Amino acid sequence: MSGAPRDPGDEPGDAPGAGTDPAERKMRFLFALRQRGVTDPRVLDAMERIDRGAFVRGHFEDRAYEDTPLPIPCGQTISQPSVVGLMTQALQVGPRDKVLEIGTGSGYQAAVLSLLCRRVYTLDRHRRLVAEAEALFRELGLSNITAMVADGSRGLQEQAPFDRIMVTAAAEDPPGSLLAQLKIGGIMVVPVGQSDAVQTLIRVRRSETGFDYDELRQVRFVPLVEGLGQT
Ligand code: SAH
Repeated sequence: MSGAPRDPGDEPGDAPGAGTDPAERKMRFLFALRQRGVTDPRVLDAMERIDRGAFVRGHFEDRAYEDTPLPIPCGQTISQPSVVGLMTQALQVGPRDKVLEIGTGSGYQAAVLSLLCRRVYTLDRHRRLVAEAEALFRELGLSNITAMVADGSRGLQEQAPFDRIMVTAAAEDPPGSLLAQLKIGGIMVVPVGQSDAVQTLIRVRRSETGFDYDELRQVRFVPLVEGLGQT
């Protein structure tokens, strides 16, 4: 726009996105998701209803609607919204599905999944993250999520098998116990590769006879670490 180089809400010192009204902010958020390939209307609807701002507390809150990963406690990160959208879309979740998520983190991905399926089990190795996410789920009335402190690389045997499994931390290979806990006909989405390099997002489908793999895109996640965290 000639003669109007700056958005009227963009006062000096404002973070991008701050100062705009919530409806406009949400519209931009959804537009950015669509531009990056999130086109499934159910996924877009879920991401419209779950406010990412609630999962990004403190210092980075005003950047919650940007398409960027952000730091959360315990040295972890909340994923980039478009990656959350693309992974959710790739998982092809149905309303009757029982879903396992490894890596609760902020709880944002679990919250989005919870609107699309029957029940979400989400595991994290950090007690603090699980406690904070649980409090948020309660506050938001998301009653079909069970968050637990556990080493997710072992899955959750007592609730297996799962229709869908989403791993939000990078493993060197799709963990064997998670493959074993996937139903026949089930789908798992998992970033695979060395922890400090670019990884490949893989979709695994379990058939009667074995597992089919397809590569979706390059991603970058924190590593899947065995054992429980100190906090
Ligand atoms: N899905 C999250 C982001 C996950 S970040 C969100 O929406 O915010 C990756 C998370 O995986 C971190 O919280 C980390 O603690 C967790 N993690 C890493 N290894 C794990 C393991 N073996 N078991 C359970 N959680 C693990």
